[in-house]
Amino acid sequence: MAAVDLQAVLDGIAATLAPRAAAGAGKVADYIPALARVPAAHFGIALCTRDGTQAAAGDAHQPFSIQSISKLFTLTLAMQTLEDGEIWQRIGREPSGNPFNSLVQLESERGVPRNPFINAGAIAVADRLVTHGDAKRRLLELLSGLCGETIAFDEEVAASEAATGYRNIALANFMKSFQRIDNPVEAALDMYFHQCSVAMSCAQVARAAGYLCRDGLHPLDDSSQVVTERQARRLNALMLTCGTYDAAGEFAYRIGLPCKSGVGGGIVAVVPDTLSLCVWSPGLDHSGNSALGMEALELFVGATGLSVF
Ligand code: GLU
Repeated sequence: MAAVDLQAVLDGIAATLAPRAAAGAGKVADYIPALARVPAAHFGIALCTRDGTQAAAGDAHQPFSIQSISKLFTLTLAMQTLEDGEIWQRIGREPSGNPFNSLVQLESERGVPRNPFINAGAIAVADRLVTHGDAKRRLLELLSGLCGETIAFDEEVAASEAATGYRNIALANFMKSFQRIDNPVEAALDMYFHQCSVAMSCAQVARAAGYLCRDGLHPLDDSSQVVTERQARRLNALMLTCGTYDAAGEFAYRIGLPCKSGVGGGIVAVVPDTLSLCVWSPGLDHSGNSALGMEALELFVGATGLSVF
């Protein structure tokens, strides 16, 4: 890997894919106005190596709505705060094979979401965090500490999520009917809608996820652990199996890296022990993953040979 010029790899990927983004690839999420008005033409990619070297190309410094990528960081916060049993008693660890906002499995599984990265699972995690207090502030503190810059919610996005989040409201109520949600559903959902609204750039997300390629070690501070080495392994395992909606098999086949995507068009990926990277292009494919983001990761793995397989 030492022989690979990572900046040149990112420049090459951006040169190949930015014109395709400009021509309009995939379909931008349009369920709320703040996402619908993001131009499809954006393409950014950034990485941060285990030793802190950074590289970036395209719109890597432009903030975007991280949406479901936040589920990785709220689970991290839960792992920091809660006993294992408190998290996993009410949330599974299996790929769902269903759309991220699906209600169907919740009925047969009596209100226990299949994994923490589908909406129901993330709402259940949000509920646990709310129980432990000050969840929104602690999430922003975690993210700001991880990337060394102030990270904030986009209140317009959070308000729109709340105003149109009929399915998420249904998921929360459904879990509540099985006594799987401790707090008022409004409180769990307020946390969930805010976490979806976090705005970060590719460079910030790549840096923030650095602990996942450093055995849990803080990306900016060698003397502190974000999570234990074992927890970092487990987060990577969950990303690989459940991180990309119902396309996790396709991601493992074509890319072979733990990834977490969001409907804002971002995808964060981890090469354990080596680097973390983030790509952003708002046009989505049929499974809700960034169409060019997936291609970018495939090109990256092809150019560097970096994969867990
Ligand atoms: N705010 C979106 C929702 O809850 C997030 C979806 C996503 O990024 O997967 O429906």
